[in-house]
Amino acid sequence: MTKRVTWMCTLLFVALISTAPAYANTTLRVIASFSVMEELVKRVAGDAVSVNVIVPVGEDVHRWELTPPNVLALEETHIVFYNGLGLEPWIRHIEAMSDDQLTLVEVAKKADYAPLMISTGQYKGEPDPHMWMDPAGAAAYIDVIAATLAEHLPKQADVFYARAEEARKALTTLSSEVKERLDGIPQTNRTLITSEASFGYFARAFSFQAQGIWGVNHETQGSAQAMAKMSEQLAAKRPSALFFESTTPSIHMDALARETSIPLAGPLYVDSLSRADGPAANYSTMLRHNAEVLHTALGGATAE
Ligand SMILES: [Zn+2]
Repeated sequence: MTKRVTWMCTLLFVALISTAPAYANTTLRVIASFSVMEELVKRVAGDAVSVNVIVPVGEDVHRWELTPPNVLALEETHIVFYNGLGLEPWIRHIEAMSDDQLTLVEVAKKADYAPLMISTGQYKGEPDPHMWMDPAGAAAYIDVIAATLAEHLPKQADVFYARAEEARKALTTLSSEVKERLDGIPQTNRTLITSEASFGYFARAFSFQAQGIWGVNHETQGSAQAMAKMSEQLAAKRPSALFFESTTPSIHMDALARETSIPLAGPLYVDSLSRADGPAANYSTMLRHNAEVLHTALGGATAE
């Protein structure tokens, strides 16, 4: 264990044993692990619950390291909603120090939604964590969030379930809109090649073939072997475009695009929303923005 982590764990431990949250008389305080989860929690929580986030927008949720401000915020927190299934390896530092004052909820693991198994790399055979990329997966998260909040604030349970129902309807509508926008892309062009293999659920929901040069959770980021293999496949397949994600360095994709003369498009948003003034400030605009990028890069029909 590094000195930094040891120090943080000590601080966290002291923080946790020195506070005794009693939210019966105060606001329920919740932390989401990353920005997409934060937005989904806010949709259900409303104003009665204070919602914070650990990984700021634009940062890589897979590789985050807890900061002193994160630890201080956790001191006052009652519930941590995290995705789980390996998305946030750093959650173990919170787990190790949590006690019965702090509830950790592994949302993707609890979600009633069929997981996809990772097909290559270090995590082969384990569930892919990126379930939120299908609106039906996000809706399953909403149910877990509503049930958890209702359990903690039973008097407001009806309000949480009503908001969850509203959010579910909005997600179903969003899914239809995204599908409609993507319908213009010919079936032969529906190849989605990104840095991280994080589009599996999106591909299943919207009929694409998705592939990443890194596998899931970045375990083989930019290895010479992965690059050579992908370069060979690209030369044979000649997809219309390659894509880069907002939270991953585009250096490897730049190299592949140059090598193969295939255009590079993006950014696609997956592991983080954009800042408020960006194109993916919330979950709906994130999926709509991604659909627009795909539509343009993969030769979607322009007739409306
Ligand atoms: Zn990811």
